[in-house]
Amino acid sequence: MSVSTTQIDAFIQAATAVINANEAEVTALDQAIGDGDHVTNVQRGLGVLASLAPDLGALDWPAALQKMGMSVMSTVGGASGSLYGTFFLAMAKSFKGRDMSLAHLAEGFGAGVDAMKQRGKAELGEKTMLDVLIPVAEVLRQAAAESWDLPKVVAEINRAAEAGCESTRDLVPTKGRSSFLGERARGCIDAGARTSQLMIAAIGGVLAGDAG
Ligand code: ADP
Ligand code: MG
Repeated sequence: MSVSTTQIDAFIQAATAVINANEAEVTALDQAIGDGDHVTNVQRGLGVLASLAPDLGALDWPAALQKMGMSVMSTVGGASGSLYGTFFLAMAKSFKGRDMSLAHLAEGFGAGVDAMKQRGKAELGEKTMLDVLIPVAEVLRQAAAESWDLPKVVAEINRAAEAGCESTRDLVPTKGRSSFLGERARGCIDAGARTSQLMIAAIGGVLAGDAG
């Protein structure tokens, strides 16, 4: 798997398109159990990354991820801004001196998710985006260990992300804004889980398209 930072632009464009197409749904989810601004926060982050994309393509992965993390951290509000910022910065650190391979991606993504867990003091099953990102990290680890081909990696990641997103429906939130609702938040999918799943599907689509 060779993925260059010049492809970040395509990833951001695909993620932006899918988030914009599902804007109303995500807003309804965050209005139901949050404060309704989640999609705006994600769109702001993607907008910042889109403006950086031409520069990112000239950098190696650690430098590009570092820049992405700093920018998201400083310009995106809400819990999701600092969490995604933390995710990219930890990934940047993990990629120091490394190229992009499935094994390095698995380690980097895992390091990003671990840093997010620490930052938000959250775990699997608390009705957050981690219910998508933790299972995806697990799939990547297995994919690297067993050297899966790209179509299989993308398919299994999508399956795990969709299942993780759907799993948030019956969970009771214990972290973030929705936790104030407690039991009353049961029955609604978490907005952050949905946007994570949508963006992962979009990026996987770009990668699968490249392969085919
Ligand atoms: P805010 O909740 O500050 O308004 P956003 O609306 O942008 O921020 O993001 C809300 C999403 O952030 C939630 O749907 C959830 O997925 C995620 N989230 C909130 N708190 C945490 C946390 N401690 N750990 C992981 N994810 C979290
Ligand atoms: Mg919000």
